[in-house]
Amino acid sequence: MNSLKVLYVCAEVYPLLKTGGLADVSAGLPPALAAQGVDVRLLLPAFPALVAGVTPEGPALPVPAGGAPGLPAGLGPQPGTAHGPNPWLQRGRISANGQPVWLLHAPGLYGRGGNPYLDASGQPWADSAQQFAWLGWAAALLGTGLDGGWRPDVVHGHDWHSGLCFAYLRQMGRAGTPVPATVFTIHNLAYQGVFPAELRPRLGLPDALFQLNGLEFHGQLSFMKAGLKYSDAITTVSPSYAHEITTPEQGCGLDGVLRQRRAVLHGILNGVDNTVWDPANDPLVQPGFDADHLQGKALAKARLQKTMGLKKQADALLFCVVSRLTEQKGLHLLPSVVDELVQRGGQLVVLGTGDAGIVAALQACAQRHPGQVAVHIGYDEALSHAVIAGSDVILVPSRFEPCGLTQLYGLRYGTLPLVRAVGGLADTVTDCSLENLDDGSASGFVFHELGAPGLGGALRRAFALQRRPADWLAVQRHAMALRFDWARAATDTLRVYRQAHAIPHGTAPA
Ligand code: ADP
Repeated sequence: MNSLKVLYVCAEVYPLLKTGGLADVSAGLPPALAAQGVDVRLLLPAFPALVAGVTPEGPALPVPAGGAPGLPAGLGPQPGTAHGPNPWLQRGRISANGQPVWLLHAPGLYGRGGNPYLDASGQPWADSAQQFAWLGWAAALLGTGLDGGWRPDVVHGHDWHSGLCFAYLRQMGRAGTPVPATVFTIHNLAYQGVFPAELRPRLGLPDALFQLNGLEFHGQLSFMKAGLKYSDAITTVSPSYAHEITTPEQGCGLDGVLRQRRAVLHGILNGVDNTVWDPANDPLVQPGFDADHLQGKALAKARLQKTMGLKKQADALLFCVVSRLTEQKGLHLLPSVVDELVQRGGQLVVLGTGDAGIVAALQACAQRHPGQVAVHIGYDEALSHAVIAGSDVILVPSRFEPCGLTQLYGLRYGTLPLVRAVGGLADTVTDCSLENLDDGSASGFVFHELGAPGLGGALRRAFALQRRPADWLAVQRHAMALRFDWARAATDTLRVYRQAHAIPHGTAPA
Protein backbone atom coordinates (compact mmCIF):
# COMPACT_ATOMS: atom_id res chain seq x y z
CA MET A 1 0.00 0.00 0.00
CA ASN A 2 1.30 3.46 -0.85
CA SER A 3 2.10 5.52 2.20
CA LEU A 4 -0.24 8.33 3.12
CA LYS A 5 1.17 11.71 2.05
CA VAL A 6 0.63 14.54 4.50
CA LEU A 7 1.40 18.23 4.11
CA TYR A 8 1.95 19.58 7.64
CA VAL A 9 1.44 23.35 7.68
CA CYS A 10 2.76 25.35 10.63
CA ALA A 11 4.63 28.50 11.57
CA GLU A 12 7.48 27.26 13.78
CA VAL A 13 9.56 24.16 14.45
CA TYR A 14 12.09 23.36 17.19
CA PRO A 15 15.07 23.80 17.25
CA LEU A 16 15.10 26.28 14.38
CA LEU A 17 12.33 28.63 15.48
CA LYS A 18 10.37 28.36 18.71
CA THR A 19 8.13 30.76 20.57
CA GLY A 20 6.14 28.07 22.40
CA GLY A 21 4.85 24.52 22.50
CA LEU A 22 3.74 24.60 18.85
CA ALA A 23 7.40 24.35 17.81
CA ASP A 24 7.93 21.30 20.03
CA VAL A 25 4.89 19.62 18.51
CA SER A 26 6.03 20.35 14.94
CA ALA A 27 9.35 18.73 15.81
CA GLY A 28 7.89 15.73 17.64
CA LEU A 29 4.80 14.62 15.76
CA PRO A 30 6.04 14.50 12.12
CA PRO A 31 8.93 12.07 12.79
CA ALA A 32 6.59 9.89 14.86
CA LEU A 33 4.15 9.84 11.92
CA ALA A 34 7.00 9.03 9.55
CA ALA A 35 7.96 6.12 11.82
CA GLN A 36 4.45 4.77 11.21
CA GLY A 37 4.88 4.96 7.45
CA VAL A 38 3.43 8.41 6.73
CA ASP A 39 5.21 10.50 4.09
CA VAL A 40 5.04 13.83 5.89
CA ARG A 41 6.40 17.14 4.65
CA LEU A 42 6.32 20.41 6.53
CA LEU A 43 5.34 23.73 5.00
CA LEU A 44 6.54 26.82 6.84
CA PRO A 45 7.11 30.49 6.02
CA ALA A 46 10.74 31.20 5.16
CA PHE A 47 11.57 33.01 8.39
CA PRO A 48 15.35 33.68 8.54
CA ALA A 49 16.02 31.10 11.28
CA LEU A 50 14.31 28.46 9.16
CA VAL A 51 16.16 29.38 5.97
CA ALA A 52 19.42 29.11 7.92
CA GLY A 53 18.59 25.61 9.15
CA VAL A 54 17.26 24.06 5.95
CA THR A 55 19.36 22.54 3.17
CA PRO A 56 17.61 23.31 -0.14
CA GLU A 57 16.91 20.55 -2.66
CA GLY A 58 15.83 21.00 -6.26
CA PRO A 59 14.53 24.04 -8.09
CA ALA A 60 12.19 26.68 -6.65
CA LEU A 61 8.48 26.39 -7.42
CA PRO A 62 6.70 29.69 -8.20
CA VAL A 63 3.43 30.27 -6.35
CA PRO A 64 0.87 31.88 -8.66
CA ALA A 65 -1.05 34.73 -7.03
CA GLY A 66 -4.49 33.31 -7.56
CA GLY A 67 -7.15 32.71 -10.14
CA ALA A 68 -7.87 29.14 -9.10
CA PRO A 69 -11.36 27.85 -9.91
CA GLY A 70 -13.87 29.17 -7.41
CA LEU A 71 -11.67 31.96 -6.13
CA PRO A 72 -11.32 35.63 -7.00
CA ALA A 73 -8.20 37.02 -8.60
CA GLY A 74 -6.00 36.29 -5.65
CA LEU A 75 -3.63 37.71 -3.14
CA GLY A 76 -1.96 41.05 -3.54
CA PRO A 77 0.21 43.39 -1.50
CA GLN A 78 -1.33 45.53 1.18
CA PRO A 79 -1.35 49.25 0.39
CA GLY A 80 1.73 50.89 1.78
CA THR A 81 3.87 47.76 1.69
CA ALA A 82 6.47 47.13 -0.94
CA HIS A 83 6.26 43.43 -1.52
CA GLY A 84 8.35 42.21 -4.39
CA PRO A 85 7.67 39.48 -6.90
CA ASN A 86 5.28 36.62 -6.26
CA PRO A 87 6.26 34.11 -3.61
CA TRP A 88 7.96 30.82 -4.37
CA LEU A 89 8.41 27.51 -2.61
CA GLN A 90 11.77 25.96 -1.93
CA ARG A 91 11.92 22.28 -1.10
CA GLY A 92 14.61 21.05 1.29
CA ARG A 93 15.41 19.19 4.47
CA ILE A 94 15.98 20.39 7.99
CA SER A 95 19.75 20.10 8.10
CA ALA A 96 19.88 18.73 11.65
CA ASN A 97 17.52 15.78 11.15
CA GLY A 98 16.68 15.40 7.45
CA GLN A 99 12.97 16.21 7.89
CA PRO A 100 11.53 17.11 4.43
CA VAL A 101 10.16 20.63 4.33
CA TRP A 102 8.87 23.30 1.99
CA LEU A 103 9.75 26.90 2.80
CA LEU A 104 7.50 29.63 1.44
CA HIS A 105 9.51 32.67 0.39
CA ALA A 106 7.65 35.94 -0.02
CA PRO A 107 9.82 39.03 -0.41
CA GLY A 108 9.10 41.54 2.31
CA LEU A 109 6.84 39.24 4.32
CA TYR A 110 9.05 36.82 6.23
CA GLY A 111 12.69 37.76 5.79
CA ARG A 112 12.82 40.72 8.13
CA GLY A 113 14.23 39.25 11.32
CA GLY A 114 12.90 39.51 14.84
CA ASN A 115 9.89 37.64 16.13
CA PRO A 116 7.83 35.87 13.45
CA TYR A 117 4.60 37.38 14.73
CA LEU A 118 5.58 40.67 16.38
CA ASP A 119 7.43 43.75 15.26
CA ALA A 120 10.15 45.52 17.25
CA SER A 121 7.53 47.25 19.43
CA GLY A 122 5.85 43.95 20.34
CA GLN A 123 2.81 44.57 18.13
CA PRO A 124 1.61 42.05 15.54
CA TRP A 125 3.16 42.80 12.13
CA ALA A 126 0.88 45.17 10.21
CA ASP A 127 0.72 42.66 7.37
CA SER A 128 0.13 39.62 9.54
CA ALA A 129 -3.00 38.66 7.58
CA GLN A 130 -1.03 38.81 4.35
CA GLN A 131 1.81 36.72 5.81
CA PHE A 132 -0.41 33.85 6.77
CA ALA A 133 -2.89 34.13 3.90
CA TRP A 134 0.05 33.37 1.63
CA LEU A 135 0.95 30.39 3.80
CA GLY A 136 -2.61 29.08 3.49
CA TRP A 137 -2.65 29.78 -0.21
CA ALA A 138 0.62 27.93 -0.82
CA ALA A 139 -0.75 25.00 1.23
CA ALA A 140 -3.93 24.94 -0.85
CA LEU A 141 -1.93 24.94 -4.09
CA LEU A 142 0.41 22.17 -2.92
CA GLY A 143 -2.70 20.34 -1.75
CA THR A 144 -4.15 20.46 -5.24
CA GLY A 145 -1.05 19.35 -7.10
CA LEU A 146 1.24 22.38 -7.56
CA ASP A 147 4.19 20.01 -7.19
CA GLY A 148 3.53 17.46 -9.92
CA GLY A 149 5.78 14.92 -8.19
CA TRP A 150 4.18 14.98 -4.74
CA ARG A 151 0.51 15.53 -4.09
CA PRO A 152 -0.66 15.14 -0.49
CA ASP A 153 -3.60 12.96 0.53
CA VAL A 154 -4.08 15.08 3.65
CA VAL A 155 -3.36 18.72 4.46
CA HIS A 156 -2.89 19.12 8.21
CA GLY A 157 -2.82 22.76 9.35
CA HIS A 158 -1.88 24.07 12.77
CA ASP A 159 -3.44 27.05 14.55
CA TRP A 160 -4.85 30.16 12.94
CA HIS A 161 -1.73 30.68 10.82
CA SER A 162 -2.88 27.88 8.54
CA GLY A 163 -6.62 28.68 8.73
CA LEU A 164 -7.21 30.21 5.30
CA CYS A 165 -5.89 27.14 3.52
CA PHE A 166 -9.12 25.39 4.50
CA ALA A 167 -11.23 28.18 3.02
CA TYR A 168 -9.28 28.17 -0.24
CA LEU A 169 -9.43 24.37 -0.50
CA ARG A 170 -13.14 24.32 0.15
CA GLN A 171 -13.77 26.82 -2.63
CA MET A 172 -11.55 24.90 -5.00
CA GLY A 173 -13.35 21.67 -4.12
CA ARG A 174 -16.72 23.28 -4.72
CA ALA A 175 -15.53 24.40 -8.14
CA GLY A 176 -14.70 20.82 -9.05
CA THR A 177 -10.96 20.62 -8.31
CA PRO A 178 -10.04 17.34 -6.56
CA VAL A 179 -8.93 18.32 -3.07
CA PRO A 180 -7.11 16.45 -0.31
CA ALA A 181 -8.63 15.54 3.05
CA THR A 182 -8.10 18.31 5.60
CA VAL A 183 -7.33 18.24 9.31
CA PHE A 184 -6.99 21.34 11.47
CA THR A 185 -5.32 21.34 14.89
CA ILE A 186 -6.04 23.91 17.58
CA HIS A 187 -3.01 24.48 19.79
CA ASN A 188 -4.48 27.54 21.48
CA LEU A 189 -7.98 28.81 20.71
CA ALA A 190 -7.22 32.17 22.33
CA TYR A 191 -5.08 33.28 19.38
CA GLN A 192 -7.48 33.49 16.46
CA GLY A 193 -6.04 35.66 13.68
CA VAL A 194 -8.95 38.11 13.45
CA PHE A 195 -8.57 40.88 10.86
CA PRO A 196 -10.62 43.72 9.34
CA ALA A 197 -13.27 42.54 6.89
CA GLU A 198 -12.02 45.01 4.25
CA LEU A 199 -8.93 42.86 3.69
CA ARG A 200 -11.10 40.19 2.07
CA PRO A 201 -10.51 40.99 -1.59
CA ARG A 202 -6.77 41.29 -1.07
CA LEU A 203 -6.75 37.86 0.57
CA GLY A 204 -8.53 36.27 -2.38
CA LEU A 205 -11.60 35.42 -0.31
CA PRO A 206 -14.94 35.38 -2.07
CA ASP A 207 -17.75 37.35 -0.42
CA ALA A 208 -19.79 34.16 -0.20
CA LEU A 209 -17.57 32.94 2.64
CA PHE A 210 -18.04 36.10 4.67
CA GLN A 211 -21.11 35.12 6.66
CA LEU A 212 -22.00 33.88 10.12
CA ASN A 213 -21.81 30.32 8.90
CA GLY A 214 -18.41 30.99 7.33
CA LEU A 215 -15.35 32.92 8.41
CA GLU A 216 -17.11 36.07 9.61
CA PHE A 217 -16.59 36.71 13.32
CA HIS A 218 -18.36 39.74 14.82
CA GLY A 219 -18.00 41.72 11.59
CA GLN A 220 -14.37 40.76 11.09
CA LEU A 221 -12.73 37.84 9.39
CA SER A 222 -11.27 35.03 11.45
CA PHE A 223 -8.55 32.70 10.21
CA MET A 224 -9.24 30.37 13.15
CA LYS A 225 -12.89 30.12 12.24
CA ALA A 226 -11.95 29.26 8.65
CA GLY A 227 -10.01 26.28 10.01
CA LEU A 228 -12.88 25.23 12.24
CA LYS A 229 -15.60 25.55 9.60
CA TYR A 230 -13.89 24.22 6.51
CA SER A 231 -11.71 21.33 7.68
CA ASP A 232 -12.88 17.71 7.45
CA ALA A 233 -11.67 16.95 10.98
CA ILE A 234 -10.41 18.99 13.93
CA THR A 235 -7.97 17.92 16.58
CA THR A 236 -6.75 19.65 19.68
CA VAL A 237 -3.97 18.81 22.06
CA SER A 238 -5.73 17.13 24.98
CA PRO A 239 -9.05 15.39 25.63
CA SER A 240 -10.05 17.82 28.39
CA TYR A 241 -9.36 20.87 26.24
CA ALA A 242 -11.38 19.28 23.43
CA HIS A 243 -14.34 19.30 25.79
CA GLU A 244 -13.63 22.67 27.44
CA ILE A 245 -13.56 24.59 24.16
CA THR A 246 -17.15 23.53 23.45
CA THR A 247 -18.25 25.51 26.55
CA PRO A 248 -18.86 29.28 26.72
CA GLU A 249 -16.24 29.63 29.50
CA GLN A 250 -13.38 28.39 27.36
CA GLY A 251 -14.74 28.63 23.83
CA CYS A 252 -13.33 32.13 23.17
CA GLY A 253 -16.54 32.96 21.30
CA LEU A 254 -16.21 29.90 19.05
CA ASP A 255 -17.80 27.30 21.34
CA GLY A 256 -20.97 27.25 19.24
CA VAL A 257 -18.97 26.45 16.11
CA LEU A 258 -17.10 23.75 18.00
CA ARG A 259 -20.31 22.24 19.35
CA GLN A 260 -21.59 22.00 15.77
CA ARG A 261 -18.44 20.11 14.82
CA ARG A 262 -18.22 17.95 17.93
CA ALA A 263 -18.56 14.74 15.90
CA VAL A 264 -15.23 15.41 14.17
CA LEU A 265 -13.41 17.06 17.09
CA HIS A 266 -10.70 14.88 18.67
CA GLY A 267 -8.52 15.50 21.72
CA ILE A 268 -5.08 13.95 21.19
CA LEU A 269 -2.58 14.54 23.95
CA ASN A 270 0.83 15.93 22.98
CA GLY A 271 3.94 13.90 23.66
CA VAL A 272 7.47 14.46 24.89
CA ASP A 273 10.41 14.29 22.52
CA ASN A 274 12.64 11.78 24.26
CA THR A 275 15.63 12.80 22.21
CA VAL A 276 15.41 16.30 23.72
CA TRP A 277 13.92 15.68 27.18
CA ASP A 278 15.57 12.61 28.69
CA PRO A 279 17.18 13.13 32.12
CA ALA A 280 19.59 10.23 31.66
CA ASN A 281 21.01 11.50 28.38
CA ASP A 282 20.39 15.24 28.38
CA PRO A 283 23.64 16.92 27.29
CA LEU A 284 22.51 20.08 29.09
CA VAL A 285 22.20 18.20 32.39
CA GLN A 286 25.27 16.12 33.18
CA PRO A 287 25.74 13.86 35.01
CA GLY A 288 22.34 12.54 34.02
CA PHE A 289 19.91 10.69 36.26
CA ASP A 290 16.99 8.30 36.30
CA ALA A 291 14.48 7.10 38.87
CA ASP A 292 16.95 4.64 40.39
CA HIS A 293 19.96 6.97 40.38
CA LEU A 294 18.91 10.38 41.59
CA GLN A 295 22.35 11.69 42.59
CA GLY A 296 22.54 13.58 39.28
CA LYS A 297 19.32 15.39 40.19
CA ALA A 298 20.76 16.49 43.55
CA LEU A 299 23.82 17.81 41.73
CA ALA A 300 21.62 19.60 39.20
CA LYS A 301 19.82 21.28 42.11
CA ALA A 302 23.06 22.43 43.71
CA ARG A 303 24.28 23.77 40.34
CA LEU A 304 21.01 25.58 39.73
CA GLN A 305 21.07 27.19 43.18
CA LYS A 306 24.59 28.41 42.45
CA THR A 307 23.84 29.68 38.93
CA MET A 308 20.76 31.54 40.07
CA GLY A 309 22.33 33.02 43.22
CA LEU A 310 20.17 31.00 45.62
CA LYS A 311 21.41 29.73 48.99
CA LYS A 312 22.96 26.32 48.54
CA GLN A 313 20.55 24.36 50.67
CA ALA A 314 19.86 20.76 49.68
CA ASP A 315 16.68 20.52 51.76
CA ALA A 316 15.04 23.76 50.60
CA LEU A 317 12.03 22.76 48.51
CA LEU A 318 12.88 24.36 45.17
CA PHE A 319 9.92 25.46 43.03
CA CYS A 320 10.33 26.63 39.45
CA VAL A 321 8.47 28.28 36.59
CA VAL A 322 9.51 27.97 32.92
CA SER A 323 6.85 29.80 31.02
CA ARG A 324 5.40 32.72 29.22
CA LEU A 325 4.59 35.05 32.11
CA THR A 326 0.93 35.66 31.36
CA GLU A 327 -2.46 35.45 32.99
CA GLN A 328 -3.23 32.44 30.80
CA LYS A 329 -0.52 30.64 32.74
CA GLY A 330 -2.05 31.85 36.03
CA LEU A 331 1.23 33.49 36.98
CA HIS A 332 -0.44 36.69 38.16
CA LEU A 333 -1.30 34.55 41.23
CA LEU A 334 2.26 33.63 42.03
CA PRO A 335 3.51 36.86 43.69
CA SER A 336 0.75 36.61 46.31
CA VAL A 337 2.01 33.24 47.58
CA VAL A 338 5.76 33.82 47.37
CA ASP A 339 6.12 35.16 50.94
CA GLU A 340 4.47 32.06 52.36
CA LEU A 341 6.55 29.82 50.10
CA VAL A 342 9.74 31.41 51.48
CA GLN A 343 8.50 31.39 55.10
CA ARG A 344 7.95 27.67 54.81
CA GLY A 345 11.59 27.26 53.77
CA GLY A 346 11.08 27.03 50.03
CA GLN A 347 12.95 28.62 47.16
CA LEU A 348 11.72 29.79 43.76
CA VAL A 349 13.34 30.11 40.33
CA VAL A 350 11.43 31.80 37.52
CA LEU A 351 12.53 31.64 33.86
CA GLY A 352 10.23 33.46 31.50
CA THR A 353 9.20 36.47 29.50
CA GLY A 354 5.89 38.22 29.12
CA ASP A 355 3.47 40.53 30.85
CA ALA A 356 5.24 43.62 32.27
CA GLY A 357 3.08 43.69 35.41
CA ILE A 358 3.80 40.06 36.27
CA VAL A 359 7.51 40.55 35.54
CA ALA A 360 7.66 43.58 37.87
CA ALA A 361 5.79 41.78 40.66
CA LEU A 362 8.08 38.75 40.46
CA GLN A 363 11.19 40.92 40.38
CA ALA A 364 9.93 42.65 43.53
CA CYS A 365 9.63 39.20 45.16
CA ALA A 366 13.24 38.42 44.23
CA GLN A 367 14.36 41.72 45.77
CA ARG A 368 12.43 40.98 48.97
CA HIS A 369 13.91 37.50 49.26
CA PRO A 370 17.52 37.52 48.05
CA GLY A 371 19.02 34.07 48.05
CA GLN A 372 15.56 32.49 48.15
CA VAL A 373 13.86 33.78 44.99
CA ALA A 374 15.59 34.27 41.63
CA VAL A 375 13.98 35.60 38.47
CA HIS A 376 15.57 35.34 35.03
CA ILE A 377 13.66 37.29 32.41
CA GLY A 378 14.38 35.96 28.96
CA TYR A 379 14.03 32.97 26.69
CA ASP A 380 16.84 30.47 27.24
CA GLU A 381 16.54 26.89 26.02
CA ALA A 382 19.66 25.61 27.83
CA LEU A 383 18.68 27.25 31.11
CA SER A 384 15.18 25.76 30.81
CA HIS A 385 16.70 22.26 30.98
CA ALA A 386 18.86 23.22 33.98
CA VAL A 387 15.86 24.73 35.78
CA ILE A 388 13.52 21.79 35.18
CA ALA A 389 16.21 19.23 36.07
CA GLY A 390 17.37 21.02 39.22
CA SER A 391 14.01 21.88 40.78
CA ASP A 392 11.75 19.81 43.01
CA VAL A 393 8.40 21.20 41.85
CA ILE A 394 7.33 22.92 38.60
CA LEU A 395 4.45 25.38 38.87
CA VAL A 396 1.82 25.51 36.11
CA PRO A 397 -1.24 27.13 37.73
CA SER A 398 -2.91 27.98 34.40
CA ARG A 399 -6.22 29.71 33.85
CA PHE A 400 -6.53 27.54 30.73
CA GLU A 401 -4.05 25.12 29.20
CA PRO A 402 -4.62 23.34 25.88
CA CYS A 403 -2.04 20.68 26.74
CA GLY A 404 1.02 22.16 28.42
CA LEU A 405 4.41 20.62 27.89
CA THR A 406 6.45 21.78 30.86
CA GLN A 407 4.46 19.63 33.31
CA LEU A 408 5.30 16.64 31.09
CA TYR A 409 8.99 17.60 31.16
CA GLY A 410 8.69 17.99 34.94
CA LEU A 411 7.24 14.47 35.29
CA ARG A 412 10.06 13.04 33.20
CA TYR A 413 12.73 14.79 35.32
CA GLY A 414 11.16 13.91 38.67
CA THR A 415 10.20 17.55 39.20
CA LEU A 416 6.67 17.16 40.50
CA PRO A 417 4.15 19.35 38.66
CA LEU A 418 1.91 21.62 40.71
CA VAL A 419 -0.96 22.43 38.37
CA ARG A 420 -4.49 23.68 38.13
CA ALA A 421 -6.94 20.99 37.00
CA VAL A 422 -7.61 22.35 33.54
CA GLY A 423 -7.05 21.15 29.97
CA GLY A 424 -4.02 18.96 29.43
CA LEU A 425 -2.86 19.59 33.00
CA ALA A 426 -5.93 17.77 34.29
CA ASP A 427 -5.25 14.92 31.87
CA THR A 428 -1.63 14.37 32.87
CA VAL A 429 -1.13 15.10 36.59
CA THR A 430 -2.68 13.23 39.52
CA ASP A 431 -2.87 14.89 42.93
CA CYS A 432 -1.06 13.60 46.01
CA SER A 433 -4.29 13.04 47.91
CA LEU A 434 -4.08 10.27 50.48
CA GLU A 435 -6.07 7.86 48.33
CA ASN A 436 -3.88 8.57 45.30
CA LEU A 437 -0.75 8.13 47.41
CA ASP A 438 -2.22 4.92 48.65
CA ASP A 439 -2.90 3.43 45.24
CA GLY A 440 0.34 4.72 43.72
CA SER A 441 -1.28 6.98 41.10
CA ALA A 442 -0.12 10.33 42.56
CA SER A 443 2.28 12.30 40.36
CA GLY A 444 2.01 15.92 41.54
CA PHE A 445 -0.17 18.55 43.18
CA VAL A 446 -3.49 19.60 41.67
CA PHE A 447 -5.84 22.42 42.67
CA HIS A 448 -9.15 23.44 41.18
CA GLU A 449 -10.32 27.00 41.87
CA LEU A 450 -8.25 29.66 40.10
CA GLY A 451 -7.05 31.86 42.96
CA ALA A 452 -4.38 32.31 45.59
CA PRO A 453 -6.15 30.06 48.16
CA GLY A 454 -6.15 27.07 45.80
CA LEU A 455 -2.57 27.66 44.73
CA GLY A 456 -1.50 28.19 48.36
CA GLY A 457 -3.20 24.95 49.43
CA ALA A 458 -1.37 22.98 46.76
CA LEU A 459 1.94 24.55 47.84
CA ARG A 460 1.26 23.42 51.40
CA ARG A 461 0.60 19.88 50.12
CA ALA A 462 4.02 19.96 48.47
CA PHE A 463 5.67 20.94 51.76
CA ALA A 464 3.67 18.25 53.56
CA LEU A 465 4.85 15.58 51.12
CA GLN A 466 8.43 16.76 51.52
CA ARG A 467 8.15 15.87 55.21
CA ARG A 468 7.33 12.29 54.15
CA PRO A 469 10.48 11.47 52.14
CA ALA A 470 9.50 7.88 51.37
CA ASP A 471 6.20 9.06 49.88
CA TRP A 472 7.97 11.83 47.97
CA LEU A 473 10.33 9.30 46.44
CA ALA A 474 7.47 6.96 45.51
CA VAL A 475 5.60 9.78 43.77
CA GLN A 476 8.76 10.90 42.02
CA ARG A 477 9.50 7.41 40.76
CA HIS A 478 5.95 7.00 39.50
CA ALA A 479 6.10 10.40 37.76
CA MET A 480 9.39 9.52 36.07
CA ALA A 481 7.99 6.21 34.86
CA LEU A 482 5.00 7.82 33.11
CA ARG A 483 5.36 8.05 29.34
CA PHE A 484 3.63 10.58 27.12
CA ASP A 485 5.24 9.69 23.85
CA TRP A 486 4.76 10.90 20.33
CA ALA A 487 4.23 7.37 19.01
CA ARG A 488 0.82 7.21 20.72
CA ALA A 489 -0.11 10.69 19.50
CA ALA A 490 0.96 9.70 15.99
CA THR A 491 -1.19 6.55 16.07
CA ASP A 492 -4.24 8.61 17.09
CA THR A 493 -3.48 11.32 14.53
CA LEU A 494 -3.08 8.72 11.79
CA ARG A 495 -6.50 7.34 12.69
CA VAL A 496 -7.97 10.83 12.21
CA TYR A 497 -6.16 11.19 8.86
CA ARG A 498 -7.57 7.87 7.67
CA GLN A 499 -11.09 8.74 8.78
CA ALA A 500 -10.91 12.13 7.05
CA HIS A 501 -9.44 10.55 3.95
CA ALA A 502 -12.14 7.89 3.82
CA ILE A 503 -15.02 10.37 3.63
CA PRO A 504 -15.71 12.47 0.54
CA HIS A 505 -13.50 15.53 1.04
CA GLY A 506 -14.65 19.10 1.19
CA THR A 507 -17.87 18.00 2.82
CA ALA A 508 -17.52 20.16 5.91
CA PRO A 509 -20.87 21.80 6.62
CA ALA A 510 -21.52 25.51 6.12
P1 ADP B 1 2.82 27.54 25.47
O1 ADP B 1 3.00 26.92 24.12
O2 ADP B 1 1.40 27.88 25.81
O3 ADP B 1 3.74 28.69 25.74
P2 ADP B 1 3.73 24.95 26.49
O4 ADP B 1 3.92 24.44 27.87
O5 ADP B 1 2.87 24.14 25.57
O6 ADP B 1 3.21 26.44 26.60
O7 ADP B 1 5.13 25.06 25.77
C1 ADP B 1 6.09 26.01 26.16
C2 ADP B 1 7.45 25.59 25.62
O8 ADP B 1 8.30 26.74 25.64
C3 ADP B 1 8.12 24.54 26.47
O9 ADP B 1 8.99 23.78 25.65
C4 ADP B 1 8.92 25.39 27.46
O10 ADP B 1 10.02 24.68 27.98
C5 ADP B 1 9.37 26.53 26.57
N1 ADP B 1 9.59 27.79 27.26
C6 ADP B 1 8.67 28.65 27.76
N2 ADP B 1 9.26 29.74 28.28
C7 ADP B 1 10.59 29.56 28.11
C8 ADP B 1 11.74 30.35 28.43
N3 ADP B 1 11.63 31.54 29.01
N4 ADP B 1 12.97 29.86 28.10
C9 ADP B 1 13.08 28.65 27.51
N5 ADP B 1 12.03 27.86 27.17
C10 ADP B 1 10.81 28.31 27.47
